[in-house]
Amino acid sequence: MGTELDCDVLVIGGGVVGLTTAVVLAERGVRVRLWTRDPVERTTSAVAGALWWPYRIEPVVPVRAWALRSLEVYEELAARPEATGVRMVEGVLGETGLDEVGAWAAARLPGLRVATVEEYPLGSGVRARLPLIDMPVHLPWLRERFLAAGGVVEARTVADLSETGVPVVVNCSGLGARELVPDPSVRPVRGQLVVVENPGVRTWTVSTGADGSMAYLFPQPGRRLVLGGTAEEDVWSPEPDPGVAEAIVRRCAVLCPAVAGARVLEHRVGLRPARDAVRLERVPLPGGRVLVHNYGHGGAGVTVAWGCAEEAAVLAAR
Ligand SMILES: Cc1cc2nc3c(=O)[nH]c(=O)nc-3n(C[C@H](O)[C@H](O)[C@H](O)COP(=O)(O)OP(=O)(O)OC[C@H]3O[C@@H](n4cnc5c(N)ncnc54)[C@H](O)[C@@H]3O)c2cc1C
Repeated sequence: MGTELDCDVLVIGGGVVGLTTAVVLAERGVRVRLWTRDPVERTTSAVAGALWWPYRIEPVVPVRAWALRSLEVYEELAARPEATGVRMVEGVLGETGLDEVGAWAAARLPGLRVATVEEYPLGSGVRARLPLIDMPVHLPWLRERFLAAGGVVEARTVADLSETGVPVVVNCSGLGARELVPDPSVRPVRGQLVVVENPGVRTWTVSTGADGSMAYLFPQPGRRLVLGGTAEEDVWSPEPDPGVAEAIVRRCAVLCPAVAGARVLEHRVGLRPARDAVRLERVPLPGGRVLVHNYGHGGAGVTVAWGCAEEAAVLAAR
């Protein structure tokens, strides 16, 4: 490193945050390179379920704005679901009242209403039509859109943010920021999922138990049903735990008994890049160069990706 690269902006990170940021920049006419340590299918982003809904992400006020902007984009992308992996799907958020959804979202969520007892027998819930994103389709689609806009993707691991030789660096390294920045306030929140053959579930459901445990069912194309989930703070293990997988299926079977016998297709584990607050910030570097941070999106990087990408692009241009 240290040599001049033929680009205006270097984006570090090829998860949903880095790819979306790179797309926004490249489509504004900026010459962008993206470096990623891992191929898209090995990122945390590839693990996500992925429902549009803020979860384990701070600070509340900007998160709402980033999420609503992303909602607009996902609604547009849902017009071409086979290509983009984005669909608008009906479902129920359990243990939630209309008042708890919050005025910020209530006015914008398509079809928001109280769920009927048939739709959610376990208690109170709200029903809405939200973006549900199939990440194994969406991430490669983002990469292709970036390449079509003139972007370049390279498999490279960055060791030092100050030695890239590029005028503007945008750091979208997720949990990698812990070592790269370095920023010890970025911590893993481990999540495990089980993907089963869908026994006929058409809508999504999210339910939170009295002990705080989560159960959710996200139907994806190709007869895949994503079952979740867990959130274990400061746990680094990338290996699926069979006992945890059994517990996930058991909790989901309370919501939908047919999943108890469904064939397991895949186990997924991801480490959410959690932080007290998303870091979206411009830092001047010596020699007039600029570093823009865009990391720490916790459990909702997909939910806020477009809002954050647009803000990062503005910070990178000033
Ligand atoms: C089980 C689970 C379920 C989830 N469900 C949802 C959901 O329903 N909705 C939602 O919105 N979110 C969900 N999330 C959260 C979401 O997945 C994350 O917030 C999001 O993926 C973070 O994206 P990212 O691009 O910042 O990080 P990542 O996807 O981790 O990407 C980081 C990138 O940086 C690269 N990198 C790191 N260090 C370096 C380095 N030194 N040099 C070069 N490259 C580097 C990596 O290779 C990778 O390409 C879920 C997460 C998990 C684990």
